[in-house]
Amino acid sequence: MKPKKLNPKHLWMQFEDVLAPRLGLTVWDRAVYSYLLRHSLVIGKLQLHFAVMSVARALRLSNGPVRQAVRRLDELGALRLLDRSKTGHLVEMRLPEQIRAVRPSKNGGSRAVEDLPASALEATDFLQSWALRKTIHDRERGACFYCLRRTPANVQCLDHVVPRVRFGRNSYRNLVSCCIECNTRKSDRPARDFLRTLYRQGRLTPAELDARLRALKDLAAGKLRPPGFDDAG
Ligand SMILES: [Zn+2]
Repeated sequence: MKPKKLNPKHLWMQFEDVLAPRLGLTVWDRAVYSYLLRHSLVIGKLQLHFAVMSVARALRLSNGPVRQAVRRLDELGALRLLDRSKTGHLVEMRLPEQIRAVRPSKNGGSRAVEDLPASALEATDFLQSWALRKTIHDRERGACFYCLRRTPANVQCLDHVVPRVRFGRNSYRNLVSCCIECNTRKSDRPARDFLRTLYRQGRLTPAELDARLRALKDLAAGKLRPPGFDDAG
């Protein structure tokens, strides 16, 4: 199978943010997977024949850890070991998106998110992965949580309602998607004060201010769950 045209940014983000943490890859697993994937992409084929010794030499590892990493990657489904002989290993690489643990589900969510038990929701650090950060942006549906402006994906950021310096957590109850301007201007101020400032400046109508203050309460009360967690708990 010939790999289709890949988006390197997407590939790298899936690997670093979803695949590696999701599968619990060790540094050796990561190094071996990256090395093999890079070579398979260069030759344009997902099947790759290699000698453990040459991979070990290139990665400055000894043979044992490389052999173990290949076995582990095979068990985790990140590659398929097709043959092993004196001349070397024959494997078929799987791209991050082809790996079960990473594959998006039918509703567009990632299994990394979907498989999270409801009880784990409250303890989840939503900054820990790209997939989880995205669920917070998705919840706000492309609008800044504070000023309600439409916010293109490239200028969205995540803001701690209670700042980290005041021990605000990386919880879905404390993270909102907002525009860069609000993120900068709010800084370490309490969110309520900042919303009132936006109102005084005419950026929010009285009704919008009321709605934002209510949303702030709902957020802290755990009523604004990210998509995919709607039914949790
Ligand atoms: Zn804003």
